[in-house]
Amino acid sequence: MGIETHTIAQSAPQIDGKRNLIGLTLGELTAALEDRGMEKFRAKQVWSWIYHHGARDFAAMSTLAKPIRDMMDEHFTIHRPTVTSHQKSADGTQKWLFKMADGQEVETVHIPEEDRGALCVSSQVGCTLTCRFCHTGTQRLVRNLDAAEIVSQVLAARDSLNEWPQAQKTKNPTGKPGQGDNNPPTRQLTNIVMMGMGEPLYNYENVSKALRIVMNSDGVAIGKRRITLSTSGVVPLIGRCGAELDVNLAISLHAVTDELRDQIVPLNRKYPIKELLQACRDYPGASNSRRITFEYVMLKGVNDSASDARQLVRLLRGIPAKINLIPFNAWPGSAFECSDWDVIQKFGEIVNMEGYASPIRQPRGRDIMAACGQLKSASLKLSAAERAEIDKLIAEKDAAQGL
Ligand code: SAH
Ligand code: SF4
Repeated sequence: MGIETHTIAQSAPQIDGKRNLIGLTLGELTAALEDRGMEKFRAKQVWSWIYHHGARDFAAMSTLAKPIRDMMDEHFTIHRPTVTSHQKSADGTQKWLFKMADGQEVETVHIPEEDRGALCVSSQVGCTLTCRFCHTGTQRLVRNLDAAEIVSQVLAARDSLNEWPQAQKTKNPTGKPGQGDNNPPTRQLTNIVMMGMGEPLYNYENVSKALRIVMNSDGVAIGKRRITLSTSGVVPLIGRCGAELDVNLAISLHAVTDELRDQIVPLNRKYPIKELLQACRDYPGASNSRRITFEYVMLKGVNDSASDARQLVRLLRGIPAKINLIPFNAWPGSAFECSDWDVIQKFGEIVNMEGYASPIRQPRGRDIMAACGQLKSASLKLSAAERAEIDKLIAEKDAAQGL
């Protein structure tokens, strides 16, 4: 049986027979409202209700007359995915499993820091790619998320974190400068990382549309410098992403030779290291003050030697780079082990001595399977037969990608 790696351009814009307003550009929203006889200027009001105030129904839109709200309720929806499960880690990391209108599920993770927090957003149900250390890569069913489904993860996380302006005012009634509702110190969702399930550059159109919506300064207003897109190396789209979105770029490098990278990041067979690094050299907007992050998962005895570290530094010469060392996060059935702590530290020191920042990413949310690479809609323990089935699936997925 072939695997389902179908790619949909858009999922149904109709939900329960109503048009979903989430995920439309301001131009598309304006046209949708005008088609229903509403005046053009109303679109900005509705936009602000949805994306600035976080309205979840039309009744909340108090600047619109009741008959208009009723009409909107009849024809439109501002649909949120259903929360199937919501878990909180001992370290404060939260993970939501969101069910989309067609029943498919994706995971979204919030990683809080002292004065900010990042939301790790998914771009696909599963992933068409099969990086050998990644749980998402073993998921059978794959489809792209549409722009609405990507934006909705941010809106639903804000709902859950109680982060809309009205709630912020209640949390901070002083109204003192710097503590107003524009950017209060209590904000927990300040950054977005496209590092959840899926390869964002294999769903570029929808990801791009969604990011423009969340960047819009009259709405969610998370700016491009607070957004990072991580790719396993879809070379032809890296330049376009930089030119059009100008977000921070992260590259999942993980190996310093094509021989190894071909094995653990099979997309390398299509776009080898040299081409990938050239795309990084050419990335618009990369500079010493805005470095490209190279992610490097530490796999015991596989890619973690001192000579790997020295080769890494040689490869990155001339690229404004920082290197993020990621301790491997295990998942049921994974074939790797995480490098020992002293090995990771030594690797980091070698890289650091050559002038590259090399922070070790603290695993967050491991206890709820929310750490990097652990996301998969249905987690399971594997028998040997199931492991063999997954190996077969991976071979099929690689073949479907021409890898
Ligand atoms: N598909 C994109 C973004 C999602 S993965 C990409 O591959 O870049 C986010 C990061 O987690 C990537 O660097 C990925 O390689 C890394 N990762 C995947 N599985 C991991 C695991 N089991 N342990 C640690 N990091 C992992
Ligand atoms: Fe897909 Fe990224 Fe996982 Fe590779 S690491 S399988 S590209 S989600």
